[in-house]
Formats: sequence, structure tokens, C-alpha cells
Amino acid sequence: MLRRALLQASSRCRFSSSSSSSLLLAYRRQCSSSSSSSQVPEDHFVEQSVDTPQTPPSATISIDRSALYHPPDHSHEPTADSELVKHLKNIIKFRGGPITVAEYMEEVLTNPKAGFYINRDVFGAGGDFITSPEVSQMFGEMIGVWTMCLWEQMGRPKRVNLVELGPGRGTLLADLLRGASKFKNFTESLQIHMVECSPALQKLQYQNLKCLTEDGTDGNTDKRCISTIAGTPVSWHMTLEQVPTGLPTIIIAHEFYDALPVHQFQKASRGWCEKMIDVTENSSFRFVLSPQPTPATLYLMKRCTWAENKEIAGLDHIEVCPKAIDLTQEISNRIGTDGGGALIIDYGLNGIVSDSLQAIRKHNFVDILDDPGSADLSAYVDFAAIRHSAEEVSADVSVHGPMTQSQFLGSLGINFRVEALLENCTEEQAESLRTGYWRLVGDGEAPFWEDPDAPAPIGMGTRYLAMAIVNKKQGIPVPFE
Ligand code: SAH
Repeated sequence: MLRRALLQASSRCRFSSSSSSSLLLAYRRQCSSSSSSSQVPEDHFVEQSVDTPQTPPSATISIDRSALYHPPDHSHEPTADSELVKHLKNIIKFRGGPITVAEYMEEVLTNPKAGFYINRDVFGAGGDFITSPEVSQMFGEMIGVWTMCLWEQMGRPKRVNLVELGPGRGTLLADLLRGASKFKNFTESLQIHMVECSPALQKLQYQNLKCLTEDGTDGNTDKRCISTIAGTPVSWHMTLEQVPTGLPTIIIAHEFYDALPVHQFQKASRGWCEKMIDVTENSSFRFVLSPQPTPATLYLMKRCTWAENKEIAGLDHIEVCPKAIDLTQEISNRIGTDGGGALIIDYGLNGIVSDSLQAIRKHNFVDILDDPGSADLSAYVDFAAIRHSAEEVSADVSVHGPMTQSQFLGSLGINFRVEALLENCTEEQAESLRTGYWRLVGDGEAPFWEDPDAPAPIGMGTRYLAMAIVNKKQGIPVPFE
């Protein structure tokens, strides 16, 4: 049964004309995989020191408190609110009104002290959710095939920035580098830049890329990190803006856009109102609607100019993501000037997104307002808005797709890769390869699933979409022809 499902999925994967690319053919002939872990030298991460406050000199003063305000009696029981919940309530209290869903989402995910991503590893079976690179090494390997093909179309430049936005555990790049390590001209051209806001995940990425820290040529002041997987230099940044410009650049954004904060709008009798988050009298969070237009309404209007009337007519809710627009425009300007391309893979729609924001904790959907910071928040990506944002800002880039993940991976030859890996593995590895393959390209519930105690895996093949933005000089990228 499993074998049949696998073959059916394989046969759906068609080859495009791009399969004649020499690197692609060479890659398909080569099969390599390995994994082990290394230790992180402590000196790679700088810890911020906090100055100890000075104790003021003591003195005896008598105070007449009779005219002071007496607050009502309150409980001295320790409050159950987490640091993040207290922080969110303080913002609402001191601002004197509710906050936007986007502001809530940004604090919940990336607050530097207590954000969901900041202090821990949230991925995999023991975490909160699983992503394609964690499902199978083949995902990172196929992204490597795409990257090498684009590099070839770029004229095999000697130096290239390879940027990953939101690299999670670093698994995608580790598999990409391992798979590409025999193509020395390619790997030697790479300068890897990880854009990651979480110190805990930066550390994990350093480990998974098997990095070593070397002294630079001019002493200790100029340390360099090298990934020993393929001998490539790696550096970390908080934002894309911090990545140096001036080199041709390849950018990968896998499940990054869905974590960018969205504003939610709801149609009311007085028109479109922004959904906001407030605190009730009994101190819990609740949604309210803005009484008048908010600053994000400008983005709602902009998004609606990119849609046809009939697309909006039936909707009572609309989500807009200004950060996705800004990021896409930054990517497009960079690629338009420096050359290269970007690959965006995420779950989403090729059109306006209505009401998609969801919270996931330990692989289950939970209430968005429940215990913020303990669950992932993510929203569907509006790929049509990405296309319009890119085209609006640069005449030097072209946008391709979206196509489904199944078409994308199939056209790059994932079926050949799985067959090659299956030839040389244990029965246990074969089982995991087949299930992983199916999860990446399959659709709906896995038909072969026989374990009554675990839910059947859900295929990511059609729910996830791939889109490319490239400098027009390179022509159409593989496999979007
Ligand atoms: N691409 C990875 C992880 C996806 S989860 C994978 O597919 O497995 C989102 C990633 O983006 C995490 O690494 C998270 O820490 C990072 N991230 C989220 N918001 C960010 C922001 N505003 N700036 C930088 N990194 C961010």
C-alpha cells in the first residue's frame, strides 16, 4: 500500500525542460547523506552584561501619608500571569486602549525576553509543530538543487550571498550543504547569512551547520564562523537589512512569511474595522473592533487595489501583512540591484486571505488568546500580495509561481532522490524515507497509515506553495518554465 502511494505520488511529479540543466543532472547522479552533531564553542555567543544598580546611601525621613491615595485592597497571592502576559497587559494599560492583532502577534512570537521563538527549540515531534526540512533531508537537498540551478543561470559567480530568513534549527541549510558538498565551485562561492532573531535557535543553527569559529587574519577582533559541512563562512543577523549588499544574492524563506504579523479587519455596519485585543475587567484578553480607521487601514486599501471587486465582495474578514509587503520590496530591490533570486515557500493562497490566523501548541490548535507565548501563531501567506509588492517596487525583477510544493519538488526530481536513497538503507530508514517523501508531496491524510494510536500524517504537497522572485537578467528560474 505504502509502495503504491509512493509510486502514485512519483508519477504525478513531472520533469520540466529545466531537467536538462547540467548541475541538475549531475546532482541527480550523486547521492550522499550523513549526520552527526558537534559542540558549540561558548565564545561564539556574546552575553550581555547587566550593571548592578548602586545602593543609595540610607537616611531616616518621616513622611505624612494621610493625604496619599489609598489603593483598594488587593490580593497578595502570586499572579499566574507569565512575564509576556504581564507585558502585553501593561502595553494595553499604559497606552490606554487595545492593541492590534499584529502588535500582539509580534510580541508573542519575537518579544526579546519571552517570545515563543526566543528561548527554545519549538520544532519536531517533541516541540509544537513540524516543518518540511524536519520531515526529511530530501527537502533541503531539493532546495539545494534549485539554488545550484539559479547559481548556474546567474553565470556561476565566484562569490554569492546565500541568505536564509528564519532558519529554525538550520536543518534546511545543513542538508543543502551536505547534498551540494561535491560541487566545489558552487560551495566555494557561498557566503552564508542566517537572519534569525532567536539566540537559542542561532545556537542550534551553529551546531547543526557544524560551525567552528576561527580567528580572522588581523587577530581576535575579526572572528569568522565556518560551517565544516562544506567549508563555507556563516554569519548571523537580526534582519535582512543587516546582510551586506554588493554581491549577487540568493534568498530562501521557508515558513518565514507565515510568522510575520498580520492585521485583521472585520466588516461591520459602519464599514471595515480593525480587530484589536483588549483586557476585560476580570483581566483576560478579548477581541474588540476599532471605533474608527486605524493606521493599518492604509494597507487594507492598498491590498484592495490589487484585488478585483468580486474577490472582496463576499468577504467579512480580511488579513493584511504590511511586514510581508515591506520585506518583499526589500528583497526585490536587493535582487534588482545585486542580481540573484529569492525562493519563498509557505502555506497560503494566491489571493486575499480572509481569516487564517491560528495558534498551535504541541501539534494541536488552541485559542489565539490562550497563554500567549506558549503557542506558535501563524497566518496564511498572501502570495498575490507578494507578487504585487515585488512588481510595484522594481522593474528589474520577475515573479514566478506560485506552484504547489508537490509540483516544485517533483519537477526538481525528488522521486529520483528517494529511489536512490531507498537503494541503500535499513528497513527502518526506508519506512521513514517513504513517509517523509509522502508528507512532502502528498495531499490530505496519508492513505497508507496503519498506526491506530497516532493520527495519520497530513500531506504538505498542495497546501504549501512555492514562488520565486529573480533578477530578469537570469531568465526564468527552474522549475517555473
Ligand atoms: N525555516 C525553518 C523555521 C521556520 S519557523 C523551517 O522551515 O524549519 C520561523 C523561523 O523564523 C524561526 O527560526 C524564528 O525564530 C524565525 N523568525 C520569526 N520571526 C522572525 C523575525 N521577525 N526576524 C527574524 N527571525 C524570525
